[in-house]
Amino acid sequence: MTPDQIESAVAAAMPQAVEELKRLVAIPSVAFPGHPEEPVLAAAAVTEELLRSVGLHHVQQIPVEGSFPAVYGEAPGPAGAPTVLLYAHYDVQPAGDPANWRTPPFEPTLIDGRLFGRGAADDKSGIISHVIALRAFQGHFPVNIKVIIEGQEEYAGERLEAFVEQNPELLRADAIVVADTGNPKVGDPSVTTSLRGMAAFTIEVRSLKEALHSGSFGGAAPDALAALMRMLTALHDDNGDIRVPGLPRGAFLGQGPSEEEFREVAGVLDGVSLVGSGSLADRLWASYAITVTGLDVPTVSGAVNAVQPVARARVTVRVPPSGDPKTTSDAVMEFLRQVAPWGVQVSFGDLTVGSGFQADSGGKARSALNRAMERAFGRAPRDVGAGGSIPLVNTLLKQFPLAEILLFGAEDEAANIHAPNERLDLEELRRTATAEALFLRELGLPSALGV
Ligand SMILES: [Zn+2]
Repeated sequence: MTPDQIESAVAAAMPQAVEELKRLVAIPSVAFPGHPEEPVLAAAAVTEELLRSVGLHHVQQIPVEGSFPAVYGEAPGPAGAPTVLLYAHYDVQPAGDPANWRTPPFEPTLIDGRLFGRGAADDKSGIISHVIALRAFQGHFPVNIKVIIEGQEEYAGERLEAFVEQNPELLRADAIVVADTGNPKVGDPSVTTSLRGMAAFTIEVRSLKEALHSGSFGGAAPDALAALMRMLTALHDDNGDIRVPGLPRGAFLGQGPSEEEFREVAGVLDGVSLVGSGSLADRLWASYAITVTGLDVPTVSGAVNAVQPVARARVTVRVPPSGDPKTTSDAVMEFLRQVAPWGVQVSFGDLTVGSGFQADSGGKARSALNRAMERAFGRAPRDVGAGGSIPLVNTLLKQFPLAEILLFGAEDEAANIHAPNERLDLEELRRTATAEALFLRELGLPSALGV
């Protein structure tokens, strides 16, 4: 097929694809504990049906231990062609309070070319992008195709990792497309080449055997909450830069957002300044970030006049690809111990870590993708980083060290993933699917193989 034919085929496939996306979004496939399992399995069934509809063979739901099934399909390309694995996930984040949504989260609603609904972007857009791109070839694929759609990425998404380790042959590929990211802005093509890893732990501070009356004891009794606040405050200086030794600021090779763009996307209020120093790309993609994500302290409505004997916090550290999450969390915990005032007792627990990712951007698949995106978006893509981690990416990299992993997708930064009013720009979906189909074609051309 020529690039022109591919572009027309994708454009022609859009109306049906949008209906299919709506069908998926209408299913509340929240694979979190406490949510019903039936909708998750229903989304798996629809995904299976969609993969069948594009001409894949051996389409099946593969059981994943302790999780929901992964949906798999494959199809051969010409002899000697490379193999491309396409990834997405069919589970979604919980919707939260529907009152915060302008449309009901599981009633997909089209407003001004954007489809609102939980999962419309993350990551049902990834499934549909694969479907559109594959459908364009009408069963005659230019490369060997494998597709894996995961069923429990959003909740402790590590179950597929064991699956990858146990089934390497099933997923072995020369290039892996992870369609679970997006461009900084719609129409602004980018490839995510760097993901920060993370470490998270719980800190507990104890100072007294039990709570004390603040009138009788306050002023002399050591308050665990006051101690914890001092410790957490010590993590950053007045400018918001990290004070923990051993966590240097990094540099990102590539262009990040301007301060104006960032303020807009992040919804920073007028008069409130950003924190940290260095370029935004450096701060967001190549440096450490420490966030207190939870506190166990008395609530305002439940407050009594007492000095607190114990206080707890959850601390999350984002780790640049060059850093090691375990070493990082050790450094942050050691620092917190050192700044603990008054000899309070400090303990740590519930440590979780996940590594970051740095793509090699000089491979054949990446150059094929560059050409494809340049045609689909009218501009060559730039490298960007992403703050969130995708644990599976590291497993794939470990299992297939020679494979090129390409992260791109239709979840632009204003898509509100994991938040109320998640939405997908349908033109962005069309461009992304076009780029994906053109990429498969490019990779199948003899020139791309170095022949
Ligand atoms: Zn996702």
